[in-house]
Amino acid sequence: MSAFELVTPRSVEEAIASLRASDGTGSAPLAGGTDLLLDIDDGRAAPARVVSLRRLPWRTLDWVGGALTIGSTLPLRSLEDDPGVRAQLPGLYQAVHAVGSVALRHRATIGGNLGRSAPASDLIPMLLALDAEVDLVGPSAERRLSVNDFVRASRRTALAPGELIRSVRVPESRPSAYVWQRVRLANDISQIAVAVAYSPSGRRWSVAVGGMPPRPVLLPEVARGLGNARPTDPALRAAGERATREVTIAADQRASEEYRRRLVGTLLGRAVRSVDVAEGVHR
Ligand SMILES: Cc1cc2nc3c(=O)[nH]c(=O)nc-3n(C[C@H](O)[C@H](O)[C@H](O)COP(=O)(O)OP(=O)(O)OC[C@H]3O[C@@H](n4cnc5c(N)ncnc54)[C@H](O)[C@@H]3O)c2cc1C
Repeated sequence: MSAFELVTPRSVEEAIASLRASDGTGSAPLAGGTDLLLDIDDGRAAPARVVSLRRLPWRTLDWVGGALTIGSTLPLRSLEDDPGVRAQLPGLYQAVHAVGSVALRHRATIGGNLGRSAPASDLIPMLLALDAEVDLVGPSAERRLSVNDFVRASRRTALAPGELIRSVRVPESRPSAYVWQRVRLANDISQIAVAVAYSPSGRRWSVAVGGMPPRPVLLPEVARGLGNARPTDPALRAAGERATREVTIAADQRASEEYRRRLVGTLLGRAVRSVDVAEGVHR
């Protein structure tokens, strides 16, 4: 592990200034550390300065009507424990529950998951299907981006130097589901995963696929094929076949292309069938 200076700012302004002050030698924000500290230990990252976010007032969860704003440093376990998340955003609950283990979720955060931007992230596909946005704060301005625009590829995001993720906003409660395939049930990483959500206000579906490189993706044509209510069995089968054709399936050390291709339609069918569309329409 390379040596680094650890700073623990008490304000957002101080955190941004600390990140900027080490330009040239490299700095990194630290939330739960479940990704960053392993990266430093393995030599994949070598920041000269690590800026801890633990004193910032971002361990928050705010509901306004059906919209949810999640502070970036809130431990995933608190998100999972919120009864509103379980009832109003069941797919998000399932995605959070899929991350690592209980012990890991007591430390890991949503900001860190997006900051790492792993191809196998369990949260990113679900946030895509929920049309979530990220609120960023930086040296000169604040801005809001869709998660789709924020995530670029593995370890690559739209974050500018000195910028931090302050929060993640989910615009409305949605009947939703997240299903995944992995070798072990806990402390493992999804080989392929499908996130679906139904928007009661727009009467439309969203579908995202994750678990493989280069990054989780939305499948808008597949979602359109599901129609604007509960799809019939033939429509669902056709959507599954379309997903199998349209998604770019990659192989990596966790699964072959063939294995993933066979699973896409099955997982889509399982996810859509588990969503209670009527509940959303009448909410
Ligand atoms: C054993 C194990 C199992 C795992 N299983 C899963 C799994 O099943 N599913 C899954 O999705 N992930 C899994 N992970 C990965 C990891 O736990 C998650 O990605 C976690 O959400 C990262 O959050 P963190 O707070 O620990 O991030 P950190 O390690 O603190 O940070 C990760 C990255 O994000 C940056 N960052 C952190 N916070 C911010 C912020 N507010 N603004 C800007 N940048 C920021 C950091 O600089 C770093 O680059 C696993 C990890 C381990 C070690």
